[in-house]
Amino acid sequence: MYEDLIKAVNNFLEANVVEKGKKEDKYFVDFDCRVLYKDDIEKIQKYLDENSKFHYVILSFSSSFSKSLNKATQRIYFKVFETKEEKEKFLKELEEAKKRDHRYLGEKLDIFHIEEEIIGSGLPLFHFNGAIIIDELKKLIKEVNNRLGYREVITPHISKTFLWKLSGHYEKYKDRIFLIQEDDEEFGLKPMNCPMHLMIFKSRVRSYRDLPFRIAEFATVYRREQSGELHGLTRVWSITQDDHHCVLSMEHLKDEIKRIINEIINVYKIFGLDVKFNLSTRPENFIGNLEDWEFAEKTLREILEELNVKYEIKEKEGAFYGPKIDIDVKDAFNRYWQLATIQLDFNMPRRLDITYVDKDNKEKYPIMIHFAILGSFERFVGIILEHFAGKLPLWLAPIQVSILPLSEKYEEEAKKLFEELTKENIRAEILSEGTIEYRVRDAETRYIPYIIVIGKKEIESGNLTIRYRGTLFSMNKEEFKSKIIEKIRNRERD
Ligand SMILES: [Zn+2]
Repeated sequence: MYEDLIKAVNNFLEANVVEKGKKEDKYFVDFDCRVLYKDDIEKIQKYLDENSKFHYVILSFSSSFSKSLNKATQRIYFKVFETKEEKEKFLKELEEAKKRDHRYLGEKLDIFHIEEEIIGSGLPLFHFNGAIIIDELKKLIKEVNNRLGYREVITPHISKTFLWKLSGHYEKYKDRIFLIQEDDEEFGLKPMNCPMHLMIFKSRVRSYRDLPFRIAEFATVYRREQSGELHGLTRVWSITQDDHHCVLSMEHLKDEIKRIINEIINVYKIFGLDVKFNLSTRPENFIGNLEDWEFAEKTLREILEELNVKYEIKEKEGAFYGPKIDIDVKDAFNRYWQLATIQLDFNMPRRLDITYVDKDNKEKYPIMIHFAILGSFERFVGIILEHFAGKLPLWLAPIQVSILPLSEKYEEEAKKLFEELTKENIRAEILSEGTIEYRVRDAETRYIPYIIVIGKKEIESGNLTIRYRGTLFSMNKEEFKSKIIEKIRNRERD
């Protein structure tokens, strides 16, 4: 299986085999050689097609890390088939799956792309359409924050590592923090926001009246994942979270978490994603006192029972600093993704010496909750692109209405409609180049929800001819406008 591939690689460059093996249903070989490029892979594939009696398909290639050599290696994943027919069947299925792949959809719908060689594989660039989607998601979370009383802050992307040393992240996650040396000072790109949010709490003397103290931030954090683990938007280095922190005392716990969970359930309903809850309990190496742990776990259990949601207990899988609830969502392809998480933390306020003055005038340590609803926007965009197979619901669609004047004569009328829609914050475009069939097809392949053709008939009747996801109907203009506004406001799915 491996020999032909190794021969093929060596035909083009000097490459020593470091490791070979099977992972799930595909084979891999790690080579000690220079970085591989797409050209190399194409050449290797061609060589295999012409010289091997087996039928090879190279699936992917990436940099990997060899612990034994302590250096980067190049990994090639591949499959081998006995017959040409088997190979072709596989390639066909791969092509179908690709059409649902968020990397393919991201490129096709002009949402994002990744410049692997120039910028880096975990660092996506979101185009205009991607920025609109993320902005709509932020608006959704801002409404939730409003209801829950979370207010936004803005904190920098880098910090002296002093902060991470205080919080304990440095010691635990140093190899995942991007470090920058500046004169005599070491800085790091922030891997999480919590310590900075706690410093905002700490900037004033706080009393029990200030609790629960609720902070939110749409912040990009940076974490160094092994580059072999990076995958489109679902595994990245720059992670923009809808991050939330709450500083509180035990007495607020039940009410606060219950309200958060209710909102999380509602958010996922909007996308038609099923949720499953996991409660992770006290691990062996826990810190803090047993009484607090028991109280917190009991409270979390009660909340899940009272809300009547499905949940599973993950014994001893909590973080060392507190129990947590992870929320897995199931997409249209029955795949589970862990997105939202709610973590209790008995430790960090103590590490950063965060206190409040209680009713009895004594200084006390609060506890804190970390939570995110969508998790990271990058990952979430990747997941919903696949979940909806690119056909985003109206409220999320970067362009909601395409207006197609039948000929130049009707451009004025098209412009008028465009302006009326834009005034109502509906995202519209006018397509006037090419035949009408071509333009309809163009809008359809970009999954634009509403496609409106304007011609003589439409102007005379005052009705619009509308194509919505393949079905054709006619509707009065004013009626259409109020219908679409309503649909967007309610964030309806199709
Ligand atoms: Zn946090």
